[in-house]
Amino acid sequence: MSVTQQQVLDSLAKVMSPRGVGLTNANVLSAISVSDGKVFFSINVDAAEARAWESIRAQAEQAVRAIPGVTNAMVALTAERRAGAAAPPPPAPTSAPHNHSHGHSHGVQPVASHRPPQSPASPMAKQAEIPGISAVIAVASGKGGVGKSTTALNLALGLRDLGLRVGLLDADIYGPSVPRLTGIREKPTLDDNKKMIPIARFGLAIMSIGFLVEEDTAMIWRGPMVMSAITQMLRDVAWGTLDVLVVDMPPGTGDAQLTLAQNVPLKGAVIISTPQDLSLIDARRGLAMFRKVNVPVLGIVENMSYFQCPECGTRSDIFGHGGARHEAERLGVPFLGEIPLHMSIRTASDAGTPVVESEPDGPHAVIYRQIGAKVREQLQGVIAGAAL
Ligand code: ADP
Repeated sequence: MSVTQQQVLDSLAKVMSPRGVGLTNANVLSAISVSDGKVFFSINVDAAEARAWESIRAQAEQAVRAIPGVTNAMVALTAERRAGAAAPPPPAPTSAPHNHSHGHSHGVQPVASHRPPQSPASPMAKQAEIPGISAVIAVASGKGGVGKSTTALNLALGLRDLGLRVGLLDADIYGPSVPRLTGIREKPTLDDNKKMIPIARFGLAIMSIGFLVEEDTAMIWRGPMVMSAITQMLRDVAWGTLDVLVVDMPPGTGDAQLTLAQNVPLKGAVIISTPQDLSLIDARRGLAMFRKVNVPVLGIVENMSYFQCPECGTRSDIFGHGGARHEAERLGVPFLGEIPLHMSIRTASDAGTPVVESEPDGPHAVIYRQIGAKVREQLQGVIAGAAL
């Protein structure tokens, strides 16, 4: 049964808005995208009103999901502050329904002690932990094309090889590459609680906005909408029990990234850089951004560190290798490792079988596992098994 836009509008008309009129008359709805049983739209309100609208967003989503034939609905609440408007108040403690303390956070908590104060500036801030997930970590880069997504996926697999339960969230909403890197073509389905079930591949629980929308649809999403969609991918997904959820962040260190870093309950961030100077400057920005929101930087990875000839294995330091290591030392953050620029990393990635999976005994898998081990060490006390 195919769902029509009119059906969606009819059901939204019955959802009462805080303005005393049905949602369709409140002048807050974006264009509604309906394709293949999947419905997406946003509710756009002023930031000062955002709190009052969060429950409306949930009701709207529920109403749409109840339409026969709807397999998935995602409603984003976008809140934009008008120029000159006062900052909205921080959310009330009760607005964090998922707040819970999980079982394995006893003992030393070197990283957890850096938790940011619970008074972020965004009205959508929900710093509450995600039930069942011990540690959410971000993989970030100052700019695109440095191999952030490739590293995030292989790092997730490296952590898996260490015996951890690992998930991967592709939050790179402007250009989700995880569908390509993993070869996943199927769409997530909903469980009994109407939560999306992540796709299980390579022993990882994987979620990407690219599973839900076409890439060009994702590209036009604006900043606040990105945040809202990512928050839902974190919280409206049945992740199950995970030791680590690796979040592949959108590239760059602009406002969208800052908001994300502020809103996602991150236990740490890994910064990917290439050896070129420019990229290191970008990496420094990334570092400053995470520090600003009190997220500990777990370390810097130098990707495409040196060229390794696929024929003879000879190493050439074509980019003046070692920059990231020195930079990490200078900045007082751990250096997690260097990954060569190698043909098989690229071909494996682009074929949908990441190198840690396709060549588990090869030298690259070893490097990603070593990086994984350093990350796990940093998370000691936060994830179960990390102290083993
Ligand atoms: P980003 O997420 O930073 O935009 P990607 O992970 O999509 O970057 O990588 C960009 C391109 O570089 C992809 O084609 C990928 O296969 C390739 N790539 C990434 N890391 C390496 C590496 N270490 N060696 C060779 N190719 C790589």
